[in-house]
Amino acid sequence: MGGRATEVAREPGADVLEQAAELLSGTVAVLTGAGISTDSGIPDYRGDGAPKRRPMTIQQFLSDDSFRKRYWAGSYLGWARFVSAEPNAGHLALADLEAAGRVPGVVTQNVDGLHGKAGSRHVVEVHGSVDRVVCLRCGQLFARGAIAERIESANAWFVGGATVTLNPDGDADVGDVADFVVPDCTVCGGTLKPEVVFFGEFVPRDRFQEAAALVTRADALLVAGSSLAVNSGIRLLEQARRRHLPIVVLNRGATKGDRVATLKIEAGTTETLTALRDVLLA
Ligand SMILES: [Zn+2]
Repeated sequence: MGGRATEVAREPGADVLEQAAELLSGTVAVLTGAGISTDSGIPDYRGDGAPKRRPMTIQQFLSDDSFRKRYWAGSYLGWARFVSAEPNAGHLALADLEAAGRVPGVVTQNVDGLHGKAGSRHVVEVHGSVDRVVCLRCGQLFARGAIAERIESANAWFVGGATVTLNPDGDADVGDVADFVVPDCTVCGGTLKPEVVFFGEFVPRDRFQEAAALVTRADALLVAGSSLAVNSGIRLLEQARRRHLPIVVLNRGATKGDRVATLKIEAGTTETLTALRDVLLA
């Protein structure tokens, strides 16, 4: 009660784009979520109509070998999908805006690597990336491709044979994985984990600070394709609100940022970011 009334625009018509362009007339920090990647074939499990699903927690992953088998089996298949996914026009529009000096960087909750593929240079992956694997004992980093090759050679029966439902964090629903061989660290034998932030895990402090610095140095914040259901997103939004930055929220469906948004656009990210780029760079 008593806050600013948020305007909600349901169609990215010319008037709405002009209004957004006015709010985003300076430098724009961008925060993206799963919604920006759905048009690249990566499902958004928090979006409308998505099946309800509880991601594996870090406690489960660490507690039991059966959870690690399930995770790595699903994650292997998910990674294979990410590798072949292509950025869509929404990702490309943000890369264009960065190249033109309008967007100093993109903070993303996605682990699919599509902003980098689209040509964005300054990308803060607050939830990590499926491209890297870390040893939890000695800290050694491995390229995901090398780990995938080890999984393939140790699990020939599994690779290519399973029918799966892929989730956007690179996990998947898999069948019987009791015989799945999980790779361990070749340096020390420790447990390997994709360098992604699990449900129940905190975003590393330095990574969050890099994201926060992007927001506090910008003139405005644009949230694209995120329902802001996760804590790190809400904290960044709060940084922008405290600095009285204009906040534009572009998402299909309600978000936790709707009340503090200066402008809410209920529309898809692919077409709206493309149109917004054209207006901003005209
Ligand atoms: Zn190790």
